[in-house]
Amino acid sequence: MNLEEARKKLSGQQQAECACRHAMGMLEYDAATAAPKETFAARGRTLAVLSGWGHGLAAGPEAQAVLDCLAEHMDELSPAERRVTQRKRKNLRELRAIPVEEYRAYAALTNEARTVWERAKTNSDYALFEPYLARIVEANRRFAALVAPDKAPYDYLLDKYEEGLDMARCDVFFDTLRTHLVPLLAELVQLPQPDTRLLHEPVPAARQGRLAEKLMDILGLDRGHCGLGVTEHPFTMDFSKYDVRITTHYYENDFTSSMFSVIHEGGHALYELHTADEFAFTDLGGGVSMGIHESQSRFYENLLGRSREFVGFIYPALTEACPALSAHTPEELWRAVNRAEPSLIRTEADEFTYYLHVLVRYELEKSLISGEITTKELPERWNDLYRQYLGVTVPDDRYGVLQDSHWAGGQIGYFPSYALGSAYGAQLLAKMQETVDVYACLARGDFAPINAWLETRIWRFGSLYPPAELLERALGAPFDPMYYVNYLKAKAAEVYAL
Ligand code: MG
Repeated sequence: MNLEEARKKLSGQQQAECACRHAMGMLEYDAATAAPKETFAARGRTLAVLSGWGHGLAAGPEAQAVLDCLAEHMDELSPAERRVTQRKRKNLRELRAIPVEEYRAYAALTNEARTVWERAKTNSDYALFEPYLARIVEANRRFAALVAPDKAPYDYLLDKYEEGLDMARCDVFFDTLRTHLVPLLAELVQLPQPDTRLLHEPVPAARQGRLAEKLMDILGLDRGHCGLGVTEHPFTMDFSKYDVRITTHYYENDFTSSMFSVIHEGGHALYELHTADEFAFTDLGGGVSMGIHESQSRFYENLLGRSREFVGFIYPALTEACPALSAHTPEELWRAVNRAEPSLIRTEADEFTYYLHVLVRYELEKSLISGEITTKELPERWNDLYRQYLGVTVPDDRYGVLQDSHWAGGQIGYFPSYALGSAYGAQLLAKMQETVDVYACLARGDFAPINAWLETRIWRFGSLYPPAELLERALGAPFDPMYYVNYLKAKAAEVYAL
């Protein structure tokens, strides 16, 4: 095979892989949004076949031959071709290390586990879900041992979601946050608290739905290519940069829950929608890592969405949806959505406590994967850590260990990305402010200059650069978690008038 043949074949393979992912993603989206409860078994069969095809495309003899040929011509490849080749070779080595039957069985297991998890969460019945989680943990440990026998298994899993991340880096990162932010939180909870009762004024789901549509327009999401669905656990799914779906939920007595989830998922969607056209339907055509993804979503949700300026801007639209709010000032609303309050649910947590929810999961995942604890012991350990770090008592597993969908979907090693992403975002904001008057833009609801800055420095590159390199190029400096610490200290001083 010569280089030109290899290039042509690579292009065909990428098209086919994208088609396979599109089909599987659509089935998963349907499972989460519309599919009747008892359809998981039939869908599982289809997913197993499709994932087998995907496996063959990515790890079959033809893929091997093409990648071998490209690897021999590394010097002649463009930077994008080199990156694709490196990524695909790494992926191929991983897939080759895992027997195809195990790979297929795992896809079927997580499909079923998601359905069981939903039922378990509804009924707060951890015992129902535990055997599935035990198998998922076991499979992840086994895959790690097969693929990366010289690495600690959890280091292998962390790298899957954030290329280059390992426990050593995570430990340093979380220690920095703990050192500077735990004392800050201890100080904040002693202070007179903003009144949050106004956040629980009833707003009917239909009105929240109209608000969600409006928010998507304000963020600058292209509605021709970005849909909105309803699920218990909000998420973003991209089939390609031309078809991105976000979801939200509507709680009548908690309208900001939907509002901030739409802004969060909107941040994910903007990233996907604005990767460069030239990377579409290739290996580089999506966001590079979960950490960078969360740096975008949490940036929109918190650094922008919970700013005094944006809350002031959106206040009239909110009072339209919820007339009772007009008895309160925008300032009161802004302080309410920024209250530091140790609580039970990660996705509802404020910025001052959020990373502690992640820290709990990080420590538990580490212990589960190292075998130090078993899935049977998990709820007790979970509840202990929530008491220790957040000072809250978990009333039942629905509000505890069963709250997130990640483990049911087989995503172990994902959680640290949320905290890292928040910290990346704070440094991006500081850099952005050198050239964009961010808060003036927010005060008039003008996201165009902000979006343009991120599109130029982050979004358009898709997966071309590894996360640390992408970030360093955008920032002109290495990542430094102290930007996040300082951002939170400054915000605390504002919200609490310190
Ligand atoms: Mg997210």
